[in-house]
Amino acid sequence: MNEYDSEVMAALLEKRGFYITSRLEKADFILLNTCYVREKVKHKVYSFLGKLKKLKEKKRGLILGVGGCLSQKDPEEVLKKAPYVDIIWGTLNLHELPELVEEAKEGKFPLIKVKKEGFLPDVLPVKRSGKFSAYVPIIRGCNNFCTYCNVPYVRGREKSRPLHVILQEIKELAERGFKEVILLGQNVNSYGKDLKEKIDFADLLAKVNKIEKIARIRFTTSHPRDLSEKLMQTMASLDKVCEHLHLPLQAGSNRILDRMGRGYTREKYLDLILKLRHLIPDVSITTDIIVGFPGETEQDFNETLDMLRKVQFDGAFTFEYSPIPGTKAAQFKDQVPQAVKRRRLRKLIEVQREITEERNKLWIGKTVEVLVEGVSEKNPEELQGRTRYNRIVVFPGKEELIGEFVQVKIKEGGCWALHGEMVDC
Ligand code: SAH
Ligand code: SF4
Repeated sequence: MNEYDSEVMAALLEKRGFYITSRLEKADFILLNTCYVREKVKHKVYSFLGKLKKLKEKKRGLILGVGGCLSQKDPEEVLKKAPYVDIIWGTLNLHELPELVEEAKEGKFPLIKVKKEGFLPDVLPVKRSGKFSAYVPIIRGCNNFCTYCNVPYVRGREKSRPLHVILQEIKELAERGFKEVILLGQNVNSYGKDLKEKIDFADLLAKVNKIEKIARIRFTTSHPRDLSEKLMQTMASLDKVCEHLHLPLQAGSNRILDRMGRGYTREKYLDLILKLRHLIPDVSITTDIIVGFPGETEQDFNETLDMLRKVQFDGAFTFEYSPIPGTKAAQFKDQVPQAVKRRRLRKLIEVQREITEERNKLWIGKTVEVLVEGVSEKNPEELQGRTRYNRIVVFPGKEELIGEFVQVKIKEGGCWALHGEMVDC
């Protein structure tokens, strides 16, 4: 979502005659779009701002702006910690950035625009950084308030974008040569609940599936509590919807899931996995896991490891619990010591790495469809792309294939990527 918002910022500013430079020292305005999902992010932002302060001292007239989740949460704190920042805007004020930048020309600082409630307009311009694959937000905000999570505080309440706006955006992308869309939402399964028209996420997928020239549809994130039978069946039946589901488990112990306020149990989660694998046999399932949530015992943690082994996730994003001021769990008294969190995270990563490698090896000998995304990051002689099952595939090939679909026979399966060779089909 942050990446998409940065693409919106770029488009808004280009409309006002600005252009983007990747060289910091050339810029007249430097705008940071910040994330604030874990406390660590904060340190990163302030240490980067420290560097920019030095640049500002050397370059008179350089204007610094900080926007996004960190500013939304506590604009005063941003200003206190970095008093040299000129512009601060919140996530709900994204569309007002051009006016702020215009006002900045008058030189009266600091300028602050952070509204605590409200919604963004349904239609915003976007300067796409990719050429074949594009993010399309379908619902913004979150109403769930999981006890560890900052998102509802920094992104506001759920608001679905109207169906016709989403379909129009995707049709335009298709006309411009985009082949894949990634539908975005903190919980895509809530799509439509707040709209007048009677529509849910599965219905939306069916409509997007009809758009010509779009070959692949992906989406993230699905909340396990709201993953309906209808949605699983729709995923299985629509040819363009990729065989991948990101389904954050967060923890394997029912006691911890309850304290997190997730609204499902490990049994319910396992049941979903069984149904999903029955409907879409090779489906790729990825997840998010937090270790060291307040009160997590060794037994609770072992239950998380047990879930990893039972489910056999294809991949997992793993996090140490980070107490965020203002969230419920940050006030829980039984916080887990840092050293324990670190140890558990290491163990979790080790167990998942083995599983991912095993899962990747299952692809050896198979021929898969790959959408070529670009030249390999590690070897300029090779190309890199993604399968419908969300695997990165690296193979020898020429640059003119970028943006095309090719068939690749898999020869090796590592932890990060699969390696193979192109074949004619
Ligand atoms: N909407 C998504 C998650 C958005 S945040 C969902 O409901 O799953 C992305 C991930 O960051 C979460 O899934 C969670 O695993 C992690 N996360 C969120 N808050 C965190 C915190 N305080 N400490 C550690 N990890 C956190
Ligand atoms: Fe955060 Fe996701 Fe829970 Fe919403 S559903 S509060 S975004 S973890």
